[in-house]
Amino acid sequence: MIITLKTCADASAIAMVMETAGRFENIEPRKYIFEGVTGSFCEVHLIGNTSRIAEEQFEVLPGVQRVIRVSSKYRVIGRHGQDEADVGFQYNGLAFDESRVHVLAGLCAVDSRESVRAMMAELQKFGVQTTRMGAYKPRTSPYDFQGLGAECLPWVFEEAGKHDIRVVAMEVCDGRHIEEIQKALESAGNPTGVMLQIGTRNTQNFELLKLVGQQGEMPVLFKRGMGITLEESLNACEYIASEGQPNIVFCLRGVKSHLGEPHRNLVDFAHVPVVRSQTRLPVVIDPSHSVGRFHTAPDGLPEVFHATGQGLIVGASMVLVDFHPDPRHALCDGPQALTLDYLPRFLDYVKTVRAAYEAVL
Ligand code: PEP
Ligand code: MN
Repeated sequence: MIITLKTCADASAIAMVMETAGRFENIEPRKYIFEGVTGSFCEVHLIGNTSRIAEEQFEVLPGVQRVIRVSSKYRVIGRHGQDEADVGFQYNGLAFDESRVHVLAGLCAVDSRESVRAMMAELQKFGVQTTRMGAYKPRTSPYDFQGLGAECLPWVFEEAGKHDIRVVAMEVCDGRHIEEIQKALESAGNPTGVMLQIGTRNTQNFELLKLVGQQGEMPVLFKRGMGITLEESLNACEYIASEGQPNIVFCLRGVKSHLGEPHRNLVDFAHVPVVRSQTRLPVVIDPSHSVGRFHTAPDGLPEVFHATGQGLIVGASMVLVDFHPDPRHALCDGPQALTLDYLPRFLDYVKTVRAAYEAVL
């Protein structure tokens, strides 16, 4: 059972709900605060068998908005059949919800300060405040470039601040990476924000998911597992949310199958509306890791553009995409990166497809 409190509910209203819930035997009340786009609000979840508890016992309490009986296992991330559910969150001055599109364009892996600077300068030129910058790279071969790690964080954050970047998506593979990011942000005076990325290789690293949930501060960009079901990926996401961080965006990045060839992965963007129906998480698509190559179609558009369009036309609200000032010399995933001169065209394309989506609603 979930008790949602009104945005105006104060601490005493929350305490009364917690106290009432605590009176039932074998019921554990858990409190979650959501930084919703229309304001922050609280939910109290009753864990245990609630079949004998009547909704009215909570509905009459001050500050209670609604009481929902949950049959779904996605307790925290689930939409629970509410069309008007509060989707998304605010972070570092930006709203991540379903009513706008953010493009997180950037380097798959940070390889030099110069690449970071060139990328961010281009983003700033076109008013983009979100990027991706991989410092910790989980690579298939131990002999491949593993990312610059903690060493690059001070100057990545400094450049982000200088170029008015508000959110950097950055993958973490270990609890130590979270701590290093927290420390580096603090030492730099928090010039930007970080969205912690869980990569497809760590989708079911449950101990990492718990840590990412427990830090409770930075939102999470969660990538679906490349070889598991959507349900398993959503359950993994629920780990993060249930540990304390409900501010998550769910990323589709293709699934591993030879049937996707010549693409790197089989594009799965038909799942955008499925994820939106089942959860209240904004959905992000990653066309770069799906397609995995720079190849221009006969119409002159790179395939990465076409895959982007496929995700946006079905309602994705974020795009994570690889760019590089010099893809031939990139140390990771250069073959799939777009060059910087494509950025304005890409942003226009995103705008046009999004407008088409909004026009058919
Ligand atoms: C990435 O975004 O850099 C990445 C490694 O992606 P994925 O986890 O989807 O393979
Ligand atoms: Mn990559």
